[in-house]
Amino acid sequence: MTVAAAQPEAQEPSGTPAEAIHVEDLHKKFGALHVLKGVSLSARDGEVVAIIGGSGSGKSTLLRCINCLENPTSGIIRVNGEQIRLKPDGHGDMMPADRRQIERIRSRLGMVFQSFNLWSHMTLIENVIEVPVHVLGIARAEAIATGEALLERVGLAEKRDVYPAFLSGGQQQRGAIARALAVEPRVMLFDEPTSALDPELVGEVLKVIADLAGEGRTMVLVTHEMKFAREVASHVVYLHQGLVEEEGRPEDLFGAPKSDRLQQFLRTVG
Ligand code: ADP
Ligand code: MG
Repeated sequence: MTVAAAQPEAQEPSGTPAEAIHVEDLHKKFGALHVLKGVSLSARDGEVVAIIGGSGSGKSTLLRCINCLENPTSGIIRVNGEQIRLKPDGHGDMMPADRRQIERIRSRLGMVFQSFNLWSHMTLIENVIEVPVHVLGIARAEAIATGEALLERVGLAEKRDVYPAFLSGGQQQRGAIARALAVEPRVMLFDEPTSALDPELVGEVLKVIADLAGEGRTMVLVTHEMKFAREVASHVVYLHQGLVEEEGRPEDLFGAPKSDRLQQFLRTVG
């Protein structure tokens, strides 16, 4: 028997969780601006991957490429084991080769942004059931039951019929998390979910995210809250000018950073 036959390349070592997100040598240019310069990243089932880095280092662009909101210039992206099929767009970038694939992938990703998450013309429960009912084809009564349970879970049961304008920023973000959970995502993506909030509202949102992490939810979380990243992350990635400068376990990255740039970054944010 050959070695190759005994160890098929595609097979994971037994017991290793599968990758919910796989990014390989990702490049993204905006015109002459080379924002991502070969980023690789993986989030296995049950992992909480925190992405940290200075402003403009490419954190949001990376998440937006994973969520197909941005077309990469080159590289491989797999979401839930499915590789995003891309084709040249004729201008040096790539574009989706299959629109329906993008819609399918995006409809099952739980994404929470910095702000402007909820649709302002819908009540909270309408926000939460919108994608399940209109995109995923779930029966309305079932979506409402699930949605109510999710609102309960983020502490917003009594705000069910309220419009976003009448909610605090912290309540809006918790509502956005409930809405993201409603698509039963295998992985949640967060892009600085607390950075637009008044300081006194940050804790309630971080608590909801920490609870999800504690339940074993898979997450990729861009955050500027270093203490929080250290507490909830299983893996931390430090991005500097479009490259992974250092990555590893939170205790190593925060406790004993190797690179000068990361040391300097931690001094400025800590
Ligand atoms: P971060 O989230 O780490 O602060 P971003 O990913 O938002 O960084 O941005 C990285 C760089 O890419 C910045 O210089 C930003 O100005 C630039 N950039 C982001 N989006 C666009 C865009 N749509 N067009 C042109 N430049 C962009
Ligand atoms: Mg950003």
